Amino acid sequence: MQTLPTTKVTTSDATPARYRNQFLREVEAHVEDGEWVKMCMQCGVCAGSCPLGPQWEHTPQKIFMMIRAGKREEVLKSDAMWMCTSCYNCMSRCPRKLPITHIMHGIARHAHNLGFTPRAQPTRHFSVLFWKNCIKNGRLNELKLTIGLYFRDGLMAGIKQGWDMRNVALGLVLAKRLNPFEIFGGHGCKDHKGIAAMLKRAREIEGQRKGVVH
Ligand code: SF4
Ligand code: SF4
Repeated sequence: MQTLPTTKVTTSDATPARYRNQFLREVEAHVEDGEWVKMCMQCGVCAGSCPLGPQWEHTPQKIFMMIRAGKREEVLKSDAMWMCTSCYNCMSRCPRKLPITHIMHGIARHAHNLGFTPRAQPTRHFSVLFWKNCIKNGRLNELKLTIGLYFRDGLMAGIKQGWDMRNVALGLVLAKRLNPFEIFGGHGCKDHKGIAAMLKRAREIEGQRKGVVH
């Protein structure tokens, strides 16, 4: 588990310091748009608007309440922020205009950076696989991504999944939508160095802004 960087917290509001616990400060300092959490008035509109709300253990409303109550481990180990589908329903309805979707993804990322999220969490697994795949050649290798997802639960499970999907795969090959030779690396984008430089710069900017650990 990584130790937290010591980024100085800067907030523009006048919330008395005694009402901001250590975890709220951490969220403000290290989570994208985390400085908005203290503005939540617990009206419950986001919880009621979220199409997945009834399926979650913690709705955004609950997560924000828990942050303000200092329940660090409970929040960072929650599955909730990984369930968000970015439908923006909550965000468009929040009377306080909180960027809820961004905060939820920001908390997920923070939990991942700190090693709180189980490796087997499906959305985390997909995100990591997708990102590594994309940046390797500057474009997505769909065949390798699919194989990575199929074999997530082991060799036999992967073979079974592949076999179950054989007709779909064959159809894609015949329609020239899937090239089996992409397994040997595939083709990359034209300016891979340019993309790498852009990503490096984006990380630097993000790191300066929020003290994000990569
Ligand atoms: S809708 Fe906005 S103010 Fe209301 S509980 Fe959700 S985040 Fe808080
Ligand atoms: S953006 Fe995420 S948290 Fe908000 S309503 Fe949609 S699924 Fe729920």
